[in-house]
Amino acid sequence: MTPQEQIAIHNMRLEGHSPSSIAAALGLSAGTVRSYIHRHPMGPVVRACKQCGRTILPDPRRREKLFCCDACRMAWWNSHPEAVHRRAYYTLTCQHCGKEFQSYGNKDRKYCCRACYVASRQPG
Ligand SMILES: [Zn+2]
Ligand SMILES: [Zn+2]
Repeated sequence: MTPQEQIAIHNMRLEGHSPSSIAAALGLSAGTVRSYIHRHPMGPVVRACKQCGRTILPDPRRREKLFCCDACRMAWWNSHPEAVHRRAYYTLTCQHCGKEFQSYGNKDRKYCCRACYVASRQPG
């Protein structure tokens, strides 16, 4: 098992995945994952950096820290452009003009622009 796989197992366990779904996601056998988990019981909840695997010191102000530092965070997002896209952009249809538009980070936007938003609120 590679260090990357161990990090992935660790992170997926923290996210609440079962050994069999971890195994399926990583292309390992469920037995391998189970025996790894058995040998490495969960200690206190400590996350491993998704990029370099270093332990992330818990930050009480931020619950979901995935990276140990900004450099790792940027390196990871740079090497996973599809994840950035999935997380940040939603293709939506403007409820006023019907045009498709991209909304950054907000899937509940109704209008493509401020003009459509204002126009939709005018009676008649
Ligand atoms: Zn790191
Ligand atoms: Zn519009």
